[in-house]
Amino acid sequence: TLPHTIGDTPPEEIHLIEDGRGGFLGVIVLHSTVLGPAAGGCRLWHYPDREALTIDAIRLARGMSYKNAMAGLPFGGGKAVLQCPEGDFDRGALLERFAEAVERLGGAYVTAEDVGTAVGDMERVRTRTAHVAGLRAAEGMAGGDPSPWTALGVLEAMRVAVHARLGKDLADVAVAVQGAGNVGGHLCRLLAAEGARLIVADADERRAQALAAETGARVFPAASIAEADAEVFAPCALGAVLDRHSIPRLRAAVVAGAANNQLATAEDGALLHARDILYAPDYVANAGGIINVAAEYLGETAGEVEGRVRAIGPRMRALFERAMREGLPTNIVADRMARQIMANAAGAKHAH
Ligand code: NAD
Repeated sequence: TLPHTIGDTPPEEIHLIEDGRGGFLGVIVLHSTVLGPAAGGCRLWHYPDREALTIDAIRLARGMSYKNAMAGLPFGGGKAVLQCPEGDFDRGALLERFAEAVERLGGAYVTAEDVGTAVGDMERVRTRTAHVAGLRAAEGMAGGDPSPWTALGVLEAMRVAVHARLGKDLADVAVAVQGAGNVGGHLCRLLAAEGARLIVADADERRAQALAAETGARVFPAASIAEADAEVFAPCALGAVLDRHSIPRLRAAVVAGAANNQLATAEDGALLHARDILYAPDYVANAGGIINVAAEYLGETAGEVEGRVRAIGPRMRALFERAMREGLPTNIVADRMARQIMANAAGAKHAH
């Protein structure tokens, strides 16, 4: 039995992953396969119990359904979550049991790396199933590190948001970037090339310093980056950074970044709306990575990936226009658009 909090769009299927002796290793959730195979990464993380793990997996899988639908991909949403054992464990064996579970689903679920897993892990998974992406890219083909693509999509989303809210170009604004990691780093380089003024913070200050030296950014204390004097705030570190405590203190007119689940709750989207802060919904802005993963799985080229990632800009513009027309927060409009895409596809399936 699952709590009603996940009730509005329940998952199609939940599959247990076991160790062969009945021991629980994790779950694979197929949230929606209406648009195609359920695609989403494999998380290896510590959870207090099976229920907490399963609820997180369902939430993450649903997020992937929405993200993939809004990215225009021929994929539904899914997620695998594995319980990270305490102490030493046989990582290879765990990944092989996982890979066998993926293989048994016969392509209904496609995996890739996520928090706690990396390229090497997916190579191990590849020894038991072909339904995996996020491996090294061949020359000219899609694949490899998704973070440059994620950064490019965020840049395009931010460009549209700055234009819609302020009537300005990126060259005419300051951007406060939270997190100088993979995506934050690429985003800062792209923004520097556009001529934007940059403010950057990272919990690891040396990372922020190094990125500042490279891009001309000003380093800011990590604890207060959300309050920096900049037109744009770009969360590229953790989730849940936008809540009832941080939103009243924001000085930005636009929020556009890469972090997943930036809003602590859906109501925080309404708080941003009430303050006239234009929020670029996270899963629409940060889809570049999954676009690259999907293209790798389908055997497409890097050129095809670029076109689809750049399309995040016009998609975001359409979303903002609809939010404006309907007087609704952008996160609500994004969810409705995603659900509509899935409902249309389900309708078309039934009609055949
Ligand atoms: P990363 O681990 O490379 O970088 C995150 C950075 O944030 C690190 O440098 C870390 O020190 C810093 N950080 C952590 N806590 C902080 C804090 N409180 N204040 C300031 N900095 C802090 O991760 P990444 O791959 O760059 O991903 C960043 C975010 O974007 C994550 O939320 C991730 O889920 C999301 N995302 C990433 C991709 C991708 O392609 N990598 C795709 C979609 C979404």
